[in-house]
Amino acid sequence: MEKHLLSKSTFLRGLQCKKSLYMYKNFIQMRDQPSAEQQAIFSRGNNVGVLAQKLFPGGVDATPAKRSDNLLAVQKTKDLIDSGAEVIYEAAFQYDQVLAILDILVKKEGKWYAYEVKSSVKISNTYLLDASLQYWVITNSGIALEDISLVTLNSKYVRKGELNIQDLFAKTSVLKDVLKNQVFISEKAPELKTVALSAAMPDMAIGEQCFSPYGCDFMGTCWKNVPKGSVFEISGLPKAEQFALYSSGIRLIDEIPAKNALDKNVNIHLKSLKADEVYLEKERLTDFISKLRYPLYFMDFETFMPAVPIYEGTKPYQHIPFQYSIHYYEKEGGELRHVDFLAEHGKDPRRAFLKNLLEHLKGAEVILVYDALMERNVLNGLKKDFPEFLGNIDLILSKLLDLMQVFQERIFYHPLMKNSHSIKNVLPALVPGLGYENLSISSGSIAMIAFEKLQNEQDMFKALEIREQLIEYCKLDTFAMVKLLEVLKVYCV
Ligand code: SF4
Repeated sequence: MEKHLLSKSTFLRGLQCKKSLYMYKNFIQMRDQPSAEQQAIFSRGNNVGVLAQKLFPGGVDATPAKRSDNLLAVQKTKDLIDSGAEVIYEAAFQYDQVLAILDILVKKEGKWYAYEVKSSVKISNTYLLDASLQYWVITNSGIALEDISLVTLNSKYVRKGELNIQDLFAKTSVLKDVLKNQVFISEKAPELKTVALSAAMPDMAIGEQCFSPYGCDFMGTCWKNVPKGSVFEISGLPKAEQFALYSSGIRLIDEIPAKNALDKNVNIHLKSLKADEVYLEKERLTDFISKLRYPLYFMDFETFMPAVPIYEGTKPYQHIPFQYSIHYYEKEGGELRHVDFLAEHGKDPRRAFLKNLLEHLKGAEVILVYDALMERNVLNGLKKDFPEFLGNIDLILSKLLDLMQVFQERIFYHPLMKNSHSIKNVLPALVPGLGYENLSISSGSIAMIAFEKLQNEQDMFKALEIREQLIEYCKLDTFAMVKLLEVLKVYCV
């Protein structure tokens, strides 16, 4: 058997963009370095697939000793089938130089059933195409499949005691969609094999395919001639509108005419950028500032979302709060103080988080947050988990005031905010020199993954280092709000 030309991932890569497939096959060294965020996600590890094997216990793993030896995996799978194995994990098949490795293959009453595991709670079109390719390869290899299913996490599952594997996962037959896709797969497979073998790079202009379904890892190459200050830097403007401008010849933000069909926020951004001045609705800003009362608190939460619930009463991907930072002024013009909380790892953090929070917020008149949605959701979740604290939590909820509103509603807009109201863009625009770029943990998602990894960290020094990084990151989130408010107050005078 010849070595495979396409795998499931290169097939899907080719569907997204033929040039991406060609580059992957011929110039893999030109791939972009993953960002800190992507690196954190890659290093996350995923035990969902292994856990799902428990749905069909007693199986045999077809993975060869040398994982990359796919031909051996195909042979091992064949041998297992021939020897009468009824449950095979990581079953490998190859047809027409296309390789497919299926998570679980099961034989019931003489018929074969395929299961592909996804650590998601939803079925996407990409997953359906993935299953369709698996079906095409497996059935053409001579195994008639009675059914093919996607195994996803059940979003309604609530952990009670030990994990209930049968309830944790949802098995959904996707046979109907898979059968509909078979002609498409049989046409695309040879087409993409030709691309993989081609001597010439496919002529592909940059387009919306660079972002969907996944951000392409060759953007550093294909996008290198896109000029600085291009229309693609207008964040918040849909990709379709950015490309419509670009292909109409308007490549730079500066070239966009004053009268255009773009939305209000984009036009505020353009006006502010071209004039190089702040856009301000002073009356509305003064009104916002007038809502501040002392003691004034600035608060930020961090949460993590385990795919598989690890605590009693929680669901897959539930936000579990584990950390907060609070800066506060007892009185206007008073000293700025700071308190924080970071849960001990390895334990359910929710009760300790809530009890400390209630203690630290005693006396607060107004609590400023940045993007109140997260804090509101966490607090409402804690009301359900700890109904005995319902009244106290409601009191906190009634005191929340969202600082992001000022930037989101364009009450105040700085030309360097890049048409964004994310604190990561607002902070460097308003408070130059204060930013997240020098922190080891520089975003909420990296913090989330860092805490998740901390759960199993055995090295005490490594654990301490991560905890310090988490504290530093969360502290900056609330200090940033303090500084932003100082700037806003200057504009109210
Ligand atoms: S950056 Fe865009 S055009 Fe270039 S390979 Fe990727 S998807 Fe294709």
